[in-house]
Amino acid sequence: MASSTSGAQPLIRARGLTRRYPAPKTRLFGPKAFTTALEDADLDVFAGTSVGIIGESGSGKSTLVRLLLGLDTPTAGTVEFDGRKVDAAASARSLHWLRRETGMVFQDPYASLDPRMSVGRIVGEPLWALGIDGDRRARVREVLEDVGLEASMADRFPHEFSGGQRQRIALARAIVHRPRVLVGDEPLSALDVTVRAQILALITELRQRDGLTLVMVSHDIGIVQNLCDEVVVMKDGRIVEDGPTEKVLMQPQVAYTRRLLASIPVIDPGGV
Ligand code: ADP
Ligand code: MG
Repeated sequence: MASSTSGAQPLIRARGLTRRYPAPKTRLFGPKAFTTALEDADLDVFAGTSVGIIGESGSGKSTLVRLLLGLDTPTAGTVEFDGRKVDAAASARSLHWLRRETGMVFQDPYASLDPRMSVGRIVGEPLWALGIDGDRRARVREVLEDVGLEASMADRFPHEFSGGQRQRIALARAIVHRPRVLVGDEPLSALDVTVRAQILALITELRQRDGLTLVMVSHDIGIVQNLCDEVVVMKDGRIVEDGPTEKVLMQPQVAYTRRLLASIPVIDPGGV
């Protein structure tokens, strides 16, 4: 993908990424059937930039980001993070280095927060899991404030919070260990417009302050326009178009992107 920083090494570099799944109804004696979730995807993400991934449901967006994060093993192809190979088949422990570099937020803030754990434990868990030293409790309080919550909320439990607050908690957990890359898989789509705008503004602020690199799956063009320098368009497991956000949104090169843009309601992210 073209970038203003071209010439530099990408922070994340994917080549020929492919992921096939056995199809649900494989006939016993017939040829083996596969679903190809992702086919031959190349992607470069440069440090400090933000990349949006758009495409209709089932086009392979989640598969792509899971492979980038080493949460799934490709059928073919490679992922490198800062020049280091991501080996998702290796033990969880041997991927700690990648966990330290990355944070993730998913669509559903309910599913991603363990209801039996206090907010402080949920948010601080990566610090303990990754063996990050320092005053961990202080860091948890600090990051809660960074995401617009109160430090005292550490002692409470997820069910005491609204959907928007829970997504802030999930965001705090994703950045508590100061990752270089934040990956979101439709993290704003379950939120109402006002809360969405607040969290968008928050992510923008964190990016500006900490130079966070962002990879954001979204079906909301308003969010991509607001947040992303570059955009990747996916269809049937393939990247069909990519480039600077403004160019792709204003002058889409392929018919699919034009149809996709026409079909997606543009939600005003609230002037942020
Ligand atoms: P998106 O996030 O764009 O909606 P996904 O990456 O989730 O798309 O899925 C891409 C394709 O791969 C879909 O056809 C989906 O049904 C299939 N797929 C995803 N995960 C699995 C899985 N664990 N087993 C079988 N098929 C899967
Ligand atoms: Mg998905």
